[in-house]
Amino acid sequence: MKSREEIVNIDRKHIWHPFTQMKDYEDIDPVVITRGKGIFIYDEAGNEYYDTISSWWVNILGHCHPRISGAVKKQLDTLEHVNFSGFTHPYATELIEELNHIMPKGMGRYFFSDNGSTAIEVAIKMAFQYWLNRKRPSKQKFVMLNNSYHGDTLGATSVGAVDIFHKIYKPLMFDGFRVKAPYEFPYEREFTYDAMDQYDPAAFEPMREVLENHADEIAAVIIEPILQGAGGLKIYHPQYLNDLRKCADENDILIICDEVATGFCRTGKMFAFEHAEGFVPDIFAVSKALTGGYLPMALTITNEEIYSAFYGDAMATFFHGHSYTGNPLACVAATETMKILRELKMPQSCGDLFDYFQQKVRDMAQFDFVGDIRYKGLIGAIDIVKSRKDGINFEPSDKITFKIYQESLKHGLVMRHLGNSIYWWLPMVVTKDDIDEIFKRTIVVVKKVLAEYV
Ligand code: PLP
Repeated sequence: MKSREEIVNIDRKHIWHPFTQMKDYEDIDPVVITRGKGIFIYDEAGNEYYDTISSWWVNILGHCHPRISGAVKKQLDTLEHVNFSGFTHPYATELIEELNHIMPKGMGRYFFSDNGSTAIEVAIKMAFQYWLNRKRPSKQKFVMLNNSYHGDTLGATSVGAVDIFHKIYKPLMFDGFRVKAPYEFPYEREFTYDAMDQYDPAAFEPMREVLENHADEIAAVIIEPILQGAGGLKIYHPQYLNDLRKCADENDILIICDEVATGFCRTGKMFAFEHAEGFVPDIFAVSKALTGGYLPMALTITNEEIYSAFYGDAMATFFHGHSYTGNPLACVAATETMKILRELKMPQSCGDLFDYFQQKVRDMAQFDFVGDIRYKGLIGAIDIVKSRKDGINFEPSDKITFKIYQESLKHGLVMRHLGNSIYWWLPMVVTKDDIDEIFKRTIVVVKKVLAEYV
């Protein structure tokens, strides 16, 4: 292998990193990761880091899981790729059989693509064309919540509402309705926690107003169920989804759930929308954890009613597809991941672990530098403030959470940040001992960085 210096030189000279101001990148010393095992990643010098965000939220069973690796290795010498238009293969059908075990009732039609954004593009086009095929062509618009994030392709950007990511591309985006999010209603409590006891039916009214007043124009509402990720790890009460289902049904509007980040046990349920009892979307998108973080793959999943609107007439066909659609390597990685989740009875078997983690997050309330606290499943976030009791925040120019991230690396921890929050997005293989160590290090790191501000 090349030396660290050589790797960094080639990287600096040629590679344009995602979501990165490359000028700032020149000032930091990038970590060169060469291998991973379980919850750890290792740099070229052998230093170990707790990967507390499951490698960009994908890696649900840890790095290099022997069973998933074994399945992919075996597949490599059997069939690596085949055109999925016209052909099928047992690696895809085996995956579908696995997924059928965990699908909510009625959801049994699967469209393959290769990342979260494309799964959302597919969902948007499906909802749009559904109404055309059903001879309701006026229903073309989409409704989203403030702070929604659904990916970076143009359709996904159009239904996104995080200004820092999306505003600049406005001239390229299609119009939609942006609605106040449920957690934007003021609550009495000091901390959000898991938001389970914080529902005010008034929180649904902005959504109701748009749906009722524009039903003829609206194709679908697109929503991250229960937990908005990139928009700041915001959590809201599941009753909101039940209210949404009722109102959407009354107004002939589809619901698209974006489970790209939350799918597969992350929030303590197989799918986050299952927190809302009886709730089932019309279309939903999964990716990220689907293949255990091994290979890019996504699915847009729907029901018979949507599928049947595309069935029959040539012009009703869904004209969409990607070169890597249904890739066999990704299929076997996903099948093995789903089998492991099923055999280990996840997420039900992890109740104790969720409680343990969440208590640790709650314990952060003892520190005055913690603003809000929120969590769901093995996901948790805290806002970093100068002083909670005095109500003083850091300025964005302090880049406080970025500094925490930088410091965390020196302590063998990947403590990622979103805005003024730092967060944990732990894999299901984390142990209680790991959790103890991760929080111990987090506290040391944050105190060290904040010491410069007292
Ligand atoms: N939807 C949600 C909720 C996400 O969090 C993300 C990515 O973080 C996406 C969609 C886009 O997925 P991808 O980055 O695979 O395109």
